[in-house]
Amino acid sequence: MSKRDYYEVLGIERGADQKEVKKAYRRLAQKFHPDRNPDDESAQQKFQEVSEAYEVLSDDEKRAAYDQFGHAGVDGQAGGGFGGGAGAGGFSDIFGDVFGDIFGGGGGRRNPNAPQRGSDLRYNLELDLEDAVAGTSVDIRVPRHVECGRCDGGGAEPGSTKETCPTCAGHGQVRMQQGFFAVQQTCPTCHGSGQQIKVPCHECHGEGRVRETRTLSVKIPAGVDTGDRIRLNAEGEAGLNGGPPGDLYVQVAIKPHKIFRRDGRDLQCEVPINFVDAALGGELEVPTLNGRVKLKIPAETQTGKLFRMRGKGVKPVRGGPAGDLLCKVVLETPVKLSDDQKDLLRQFQDSLEGSNSHHSPKKTSFFDGVKKFFEDMKP
Ligand SMILES: [Zn+2]
Ligand SMILES: [Zn+2]
Repeated sequence: MSKRDYYEVLGIERGADQKEVKKAYRRLAQKFHPDRNPDDESAQQKFQEVSEAYEVLSDDEKRAAYDQFGHAGVDGQAGGGFGGGAGAGGFSDIFGDVFGDIFGGGGGRRNPNAPQRGSDLRYNLELDLEDAVAGTSVDIRVPRHVECGRCDGGGAEPGSTKETCPTCAGHGQVRMQQGFFAVQQTCPTCHGSGQQIKVPCHECHGEGRVRETRTLSVKIPAGVDTGDRIRLNAEGEAGLNGGPPGDLYVQVAIKPHKIFRRDGRDLQCEVPINFVDAALGGELEVPTLNGRVKLKIPAETQTGKLFRMRGKGVKPVRGGPAGDLLCKVVLETPVKLSDDQKDLLRQFQDSLEGSNSHHSPKKTSFFDGVKKFFEDMKP
């Protein structure tokens, strides 16, 4: 399967900074999140693709490798493939590297009996804005491989013993003569372990690991935002051959909110206002995440005006002061007026006649502009 370019996936330039990467990811992750697109396979694939692109481009080291080598530079990293010791150099190592893949050795020529760290896992968590801002604790159910308790991860039924593999005499590799070349390959009998289990463990069938779904309680710190990751040490997949387990990453996405839009540490909302209050000034009740507060509106307020309420935004998870709440007042036209009310408005309208420029600054400058526009058009 050929993969799309990560920059293309996120719809950003190659020179985009971390802020742009995060912003693009946040937008797309919300759009394609599985919770919002149930039973939509293509959305799920897109979500995976977007998450993968973000994982690489948000990490300076991985991004540099990707910029230089493309997908080949970062593939396999997620599985914890790197980090193992390379072992001693030498002639047979070179053979192992070249033929490892061809003969299904997979991970190259590392000693198959060496401890291997388990894979990292990712869990996608969608949070309400309120919970993300205040911090919370969430129980998540994580299916993963854990060390088999019956055989302690060894894969042999308790009481039975492991024996040296008869095919490779314990080396894990066999040599095959092919024409002039002696080719070394992973032992097909023991798959490189050098040992043969006589009686496989009844619980894990010799794998040493079993699948288990565990409920974990995750503490969500206050202020997290879409794109943030919380790492749970050693809660990933069990390691192999006694290696340490991987980590679990909880990837946070914030659900859209009915009233507020979040922009980093700031919150935005729209507040409807009737034209009488807008004209005369008054006091509005506006929502914040901690309840209602009063907002004084000056006389002659125009629609679309932004009022900034300092400190009513979000306190960022990485520290620093809380952001602001930006209230945009939107003028609302009155509806379902009675005849009397309509009469009053007509009287009011009449009272404005002749002094229009004085009362409607925007309208006046707009029509002046239109007039000039048509005049300029004349040949
Ligand atoms: Zn063998
Ligand atoms: Zn077992």
